[in-house]
Amino acid sequence: MLYWCCLLKCIKSRDLKELIRLTTKIESILKAIKDDLIPLTKKGIEEGNHVFGGLVLDAKTFNTIVAGTNNRQMNPIFHGEIDTILRFFSIKDHPDPSTCIFIASHDPCSMCISAIAWSGFKEIWVLFDYEDVAKEFEMPVDLTMYKEIYGVEGAKDNNAFFKKYSIRHEAEKEPDAKILEEKIAEIKDIYSSLRVKDFSYPGM
Ligand SMILES: [Zn+2]
Repeated sequence: MLYWCCLLKCIKSRDLKELIRLTTKIESILKAIKDDLIPLTKKGIEEGNHVFGGLVLDAKTFNTIVAGTNNRQMNPIFHGEIDTILRFFSIKDHPDPSTCIFIASHDPCSMCISAIAWSGFKEIWVLFDYEDVAKEFEMPVDLTMYKEIYGVEGAKDNNAFFKKYSIRHEAEKEPDAKILEEKIAEIKDIYSSLRVKDFSYPGM
């Protein structure tokens, strides 16, 4: 009953089509992270890499075009987003990035956010934010670099190149927020269970 009341309230302020589409979109993003990204990340971790990863989805169908994961053992700048971008552009006849959604498991570092912008992706969705990365994933270098090099706390969500959305914050606004929160919690538990090997980073 509460669900339907919330739904009706939302319908009053938002177009029904848009409402269904946004819920479907967030669900599709979460499913892609779980089914297409996490298995790849688990394999990468076994090889000594970190948990950070990315995905490119078709903006209309939400189908996964490519997934990528951290590959620091190969090269320290092969972050999850960079690996995803390299894989995307290695696809023959890949779609125009502006027709795709870029998903980052974690809020991108200064290098990756620039690489995403340079690639032409205009819409970015992020699961874990900078604070999560620093505290829960014990990776404060991202924020330190933003602060030390650029004097900022992170990338702007809305700028001339892209719009960046927090999956968790957007999910909270949805009428079925509880269901989405459960799915997010399930994914968070999986990430929390992953154990990464030590690695030497600059500034740490
Ligand atoms: Zn990065």
